[in-house]
Amino acid sequence: MHDIERFIDGFQSFQRRHFEDQSSPERKTHEAASPTTLVIGCCDARVEPATLLGCDPGEIFNIRDMANLVPSYGGSNGHQGVPAALQFAVTQLKVKRIIVLGHSGCGGIRAIMDGQFSSAGGTDFLGRWANIADPAKYGVRQKLGSADRAEQYRACELAAILVSLKNLESFPWIAERMAQGELTLHGWYFDMEAGALLAYTPGSDTFEPLVGPLAAQPA
Ligand SMILES: [Zn+2]
Repeated sequence: MHDIERFIDGFQSFQRRHFEDQSSPERKTHEAASPTTLVIGCCDARVEPATLLGCDPGEIFNIRDMANLVPSYGGSNGHQGVPAALQFAVTQLKVKRIIVLGHSGCGGIRAIMDGQFSSAGGTDFLGRWANIADPAKYGVRQKLGSADRAEQYRACELAAILVSLKNLESFPWIAERMAQGELTLHGWYFDMEAGALLAYTPGSDTFEPLVGPLAAQPA
């Protein structure tokens, strides 16, 4: 089946599930959707936040970009889709939490660590975007410069989540709502190889399992 046919077939399944019964409670929920969570995920096709977190349409507000990076408040220039969507989520939707969702095997982080993007700026959009992760990249090179590449990629995937969390706090309307206790920030990591979900724990400054691999769970 060609992609387009597959998508049309997929929409028809969605239509049957969500639109067949006009009065279904599920449909009413969607119409009144007011998501309280913003997930900032990677645009990697394998990491679809709603699918991973078992959410229906309307349950989470999404921003997806290369390597789930967030620029700093002062580091944005030109037209910026990510800060605009962020501002909408925080000041209009008034989401209660923001989850930066990184993942293992991230092609964007790998390319950043391997220096595949130019830092010349200008209209090299990939290169300009990749610069956001510089603190993560240089931190890993300094600490784990002699480690194998896989270890460095993973360390950078985790460190880049922390860079994004720090940058989120640089937006005044985020800092303000956090100070008022109305907004919390979370750093999560989908370990694709292990099938596990980790969360950044500030107390120990490490990523701890929220959901461990199936093999590690009691039967
Ligand atoms: Zn990725």
